[in-house]
Amino acid sequence: MCLGRPRTRRVARTTTKDVDPARSAQMARVRGKDTKPELMVRRTLHAAGLRFRLQARDLPGRPDIVFRSRRIAIFVHGCFWHRHDDPGCKLARMPKSRQEFWGPKLAANAERDSRNIEALLKAGWAVEIVWECDLGPERLSRLIDRVRAKAPRSPSRAAKSELKDAD
Ligand SMILES: [Zn+2]
Repeated sequence: MCLGRPRTRRVARTTTKDVDPARSAQMARVRGKDTKPELMVRRTLHAAGLRFRLQARDLPGRPDIVFRSRRIAIFVHGCFWHRHDDPGCKLARMPKSRQEFWGPKLAANAERDSRNIEALLKAGWAVEIVWECDLGPERLSRLIDRVRAKAPRSPSRAAKSELKDAD
């Protein structure tokens, strides 16, 4: 009868030990589309009357939020995982343990991000990066202003400019 108790305690201890910031950032990325910062940005844009698509699989880096007719791609980046290089950012700090593991892995992430951004810019997209540590009302209203400032292209106008390019 008394065998059950120690077993329960052991399970609880293991669970607590597994939670470290690096790991939970990784898990958030694995879960992918519904991280808290992303939901917050989506809710704010939606409340401003803006309509958008999520997770554009056909675009480099699979942007989290996409305004196709305005050609705006938005990434909501976790500061740790995507190496926010703002010196004021506290979330991007490197873990003290296993730096030989995290160092190259995170550097590769940052490199991949810049490659994707470059590819989007080349294809004529405007790219906005929203950082997890900077989700205040000011930042988000600036984002809304920038989206509104870029008028949607109507399909006919897009077709006309393509024709012009072909000449
Ligand atoms: Zn940050």
